[in-house]
Amino acid sequence: MSEAKPQALRAEALESILIERGLLKAEAVDEVIALFNERVGPMNGAQVVVKAWRDPDFKARLLADGTGAIKPFNFTGGQVDKLVVVENTPDVHNVVVCTLCSCYPWALLGLPPRWYKDPAYRSRVVREPRAVLAEFGFELPERTKVRVWDSSAEVRYLVLPQAPEDVAELSEQALLDRVSRDAMIGVGL
Ligand code: FE
Repeated sequence: MSEAKPQALRAEALESILIERGLLKAEAVDEVIALFNERVGPMNGAQVVVKAWRDPDFKARLLADGTGAIKPFNFTGGQVDKLVVVENTPDVHNVVVCTLCSCYPWALLGLPPRWYKDPAYRSRVVREPRAVLAEFGFELPERTKVRVWDSSAEVRYLVLPQAPEDVAELSEQALLDRVSRDAMIGVGL
């Protein structure tokens, strides 16, 4: 048996007690897990990004009103009541954080990665974004400004990465494969 993390054991213990006491149904838990495994995740955000890359009208709507523009996708998962999409360009690179806790656009990206909730990321990305981005594996040109967006309970941000140069030649699937979760948080390209 592989070694389970203490958090996993604690969650499992809590789940068993709640089920035993009749406060929670096992099926409800399975449903939430399945939802976030199969239907909610970065593939949703990638769909939005690729549509914006291929459709200038959609991109304009997305940047003007993120919440309204993504409505037709009917994503579930929540946490996008007020979505603001920020566009990367050769001059500006955007990074998203939640300095207070871990607010994150669940419906578009799934559950936040562990490092997103880490106090080190939350404080350092504001003070020294370039150093943090370098740790994620890339350096921005000197002329590129870095903007850091602090999420809140009200506003969630999504980064629209720069489109690849061969965007017109690539198939939709090839484009979808290029959009990483990290790029949509701004810590990847
Ligand atoms: Fe938060």
